[in-house]
Amino acid sequence: MEEIMEKANYCLNCKVKPCSVKGCPLHNEIPDFIKEVKEGNFGKAYEILCKTTVLQGVCGRICPHMKQCQGSCVRGIKGEPVAIGELEAFAFDKAMEEGNSLLKVWKEEIEKNKEVLGNKKVAIIGGGPAGLTSAAFLAKEGVNVTIYEKYDFLGGLLMYGIPEFRLDKKIVEKTVQNILDLEINVEYGKELGKNLNLNELEEEYDAIFLSFGANCSSKMGVEGENLKGVYGGNELLEYNMHPNYEGKTVVVAGGGNVAMDCARTIKRLGAKEVKVVYRRAREQMPAEDKEVEDAINEGIEFLFQNNIVKILGNENVEKLELIKTKLVQKEGDTRLSPVNVENSNYIIDADYVIMALGSSPATFVKDLGLSLNKWGNIEVNSNYETSNPKIYAGGDLAGVRGTVAWAAYSGREAAKKIVEKLKEA
Ligand SMILES: Cc1cc2nc3c(=O)[nH]c(=O)nc-3n(C[C@H](O)[C@H](O)[C@H](O)COP(=O)(O)OP(=O)(O)OC[C@H]3O[C@@H](n4cnc5c(N)ncnc54)[C@H](O)[C@@H]3O)c2cc1C
Repeated sequence: MEEIMEKANYCLNCKVKPCSVKGCPLHNEIPDFIKEVKEGNFGKAYEILCKTTVLQGVCGRICPHMKQCQGSCVRGIKGEPVAIGELEAFAFDKAMEEGNSLLKVWKEEIEKNKEVLGNKKVAIIGGGPAGLTSAAFLAKEGVNVTIYEKYDFLGGLLMYGIPEFRLDKKIVEKTVQNILDLEINVEYGKELGKNLNLNELEEEYDAIFLSFGANCSSKMGVEGENLKGVYGGNELLEYNMHPNYEGKTVVVAGGGNVAMDCARTIKRLGAKEVKVVYRRAREQMPAEDKEVEDAINEGIEFLFQNNIVKILGNENVEKLELIKTKLVQKEGDTRLSPVNVENSNYIIDADYVIMALGSSPATFVKDLGLSLNKWGNIEVNSNYETSNPKIYAGGDLAGVRGTVAWAAYSGREAAKKIVEKLKEA
């Protein structure tokens, strides 16, 4: 407790609040909640966070804080930033410990709002961070919400993408239960594209929010990609389809969260060597520096400024041809681009290759009759409305910037827009 108070007291409570305004995608009122922690008003701290987020316990632990809130902290200019993530997680844990909940904080408001929107029904497809957040903020407005989820649990990538060693699943379960206690209905085992029909839902509901993610690994388009032993990183984690890595060399291609989580999971599962191949330099990696540091400490080797040219083998992966890259500033590009260095090709041994280079939605989205953008995500306007005005979309599915906080932001904002429309109807 002493340590947490010290961390809270380190916050300057500055007026400009760059952590909230610029850093946090959800615009959590960071200095305000920290002020309450400082004064020992933990319930009030949680209440303040509930204005903007329902994922405090999760975001406090796994947001890329240095790229978001803590990266904008004034304290960080000359020294260490305030440990905002830890303080947010503390506020959530304390609330759960003390029997506080979203329902307690919002009860009066919900009762009042039900008088206006209590006869409206919204369906949410996919119960990850975007869907859960949208569900909570719709329920807060008195709307009847039903989540349709393909698995028999909620949480999405928080449950099956981000590994346990980074995010304790008990925190996700508590987060989900806290949200479901707002009297949200859930239909488990319902999968759009299989046993769930969008047209039928459209008949039944006043609005629909699509939030079923985009967890299909992108391909690299190199020779040998169809050999046995090449896996998509997203599927590997979601379906737990790991081969036996004992004594094997595994190469992971990519530099983001998925690459780091695959590499670290595979190392824990007994691989002899795990090498991460990344086209740019360490400074350009989308993964948090801390995660890269942890991976290095766990014995993972990084081949920065290297690219896979070919995967070699007869039936199974045997070797990889790599090429070195140099970084150049191309006109109009916001970050340095990797360019292959001529004649720098070389061969390394590998038993498995994991592609962790990005992801896209499942192919059945093409058949939903909604406009897609050039990456295959569902196209939305600034109100998160799709080409069908009754259907909204958010999170990874709509190509929102691939983090939990951004997915949650889209869910919350879509809920606001849906409510505005329901009130007009
Ligand atoms: C390995 C990995 C590590 C990550 N690490 C971090 C991190 O440390 N920090 C961070 O901020 N972000 C991280 N991310 C990104 C973050 O997890 C996602 O941006 C976020 O989960 C997106 O939320 P979502 O609700 O859009 O989708 P998802 O989390 O994918 O949830 C989609 C939900 O829809 C369900 N569903 C899928 N298809 C259907 C269907 N057809 N019908 C019904 N339901 C369906 C799924 O089961 C799931 O519950 C990571 C991602 C991965 C893959």
